[in-house]
Amino acid sequence: MNRKSAVLFASGFLGCAALVACVGLLSDGSATAANASPVKALEEQEVYYPGTEDLAPNEMRIVACGTGMPNSRPKQAAACFLVELGNGDKFIFDIGSGSAERLSAMKIPYDYLDKVFIGHLHSDHFGALADLWIGGVIGNRIKPLRVWGPSGHKPEFGTAYAMEHMQKVFTWDSGSRQGNVDIRGQVLEVTEFDYKGINQVIYQENGVTIRSIPAIHALDGPVSFILEWKDLKFAFSSDTYPNKWWIKYAAGADIAIHECFITPRLLVEKQKWTPGASLNVGTQVHTSPAQFGKVMSLTKPRMAVAYHFFNDFDTLPEQLAQVRQTYDGPLSMATDYMVWNVTKDDIRVRMAVIDEDIWPQPAVGEKLPPDRSTRIGFSDFTLSGREPFPEVVKKIYDEINAEYGTDYKVPTD
Ligand SMILES: [Zn+2]
Ligand SMILES: [Zn+2]
Repeated sequence: MNRKSAVLFASGFLGCAALVACVGLLSDGSATAANASPVKALEEQEVYYPGTEDLAPNEMRIVACGTGMPNSRPKQAAACFLVELGNGDKFIFDIGSGSAERLSAMKIPYDYLDKVFIGHLHSDHFGALADLWIGGVIGNRIKPLRVWGPSGHKPEFGTAYAMEHMQKVFTWDSGSRQGNVDIRGQVLEVTEFDYKGINQVIYQENGVTIRSIPAIHALDGPVSFILEWKDLKFAFSSDTYPNKWWIKYAAGADIAIHECFITPRLLVEKQKWTPGASLNVGTQVHTSPAQFGKVMSLTKPRMAVAYHFFNDFDTLPEQLAQVRQTYDGPLSMATDYMVWNVTKDDIRVRMAVIDEDIWPQPAVGEKLPPDRSTRIGFSDFTLSGREPFPEVVKKIYDEINAEYGTDYKVPTD
């Protein structure tokens, strides 16, 4: 047996009570233990399959549901981190473009995905909010969606204004669902807080405290968040230039997630920007990898997480080398579906493996049938174009009523 096959043998037969027994199972003369395939599942999968693991009472699980840039791409959605706590609470920090599908892949009922904290109002940090808001209603959420976000230097730059107008944008969408589905989940509860608050408590329920600190990014208004629960501290920058508030209040976090923008050189080479724009955006509007490293050297978290860059085979080496110029501590270079299980004793980093054929989970309470009396309905003009195919539709109603013991009649209005 050469060295390679010995290693395969040892790992493949984990779980066999004794080597002799394994060999015995296969000793029919046609195969030897050394070259046969194992038939037992591995005890350790080294990946996270959503919906298959309990969270311990003192454990925090964080899933990267968006780690990319404002440009949409299949591999990485824009900023979004899901935090799940052992007490059952779940929080979404930023919900950038494309991230709603990642959230759905976690197989969590939408009623539990009801708390969203927005660091600032760039589309790559809240562009998928409408998808969660509306898709959540269709996906069986029967509770209001709660949103927290900062004020701006003028009212129209604040979260309340954005939410009011998001609802206006979707006036037709909301109206179309009225009387056709259970729309209790359409209610949006918005809490706008002062972006200048320094370590101000913006949420305190069920043993969980979330504070905001100012961030420096593009315009006044952005904030970063710090969540504390039991003895664990989670810090999330959203977007920010390196700043004193983060260094003071995120210090010593168990897990510190901070933007680490693509290097200026890669912005020129890959993004096709001018050197001037790359330097400005890459080091003045955002935090470059070397600046990120400096921030983490001062923050000293148990785990530093870098995000907000396209994490590819040809970008990661340069990003990492730049971070390592200024930081030599624990580090995750995040990409979508990276998962951190955090306890006081351990931080485990894995990748999630997801099921793409995803459907929504059931509601946590009883869903109501549509109240057709609340429908806005059609004009006579549109109604005049309907072809009702009564013989086809009656059969569909009959089959559903027979299967589910109901007695729904084909509407005549
Ligand atoms: Zn931004
Ligand atoms: Zn951003």
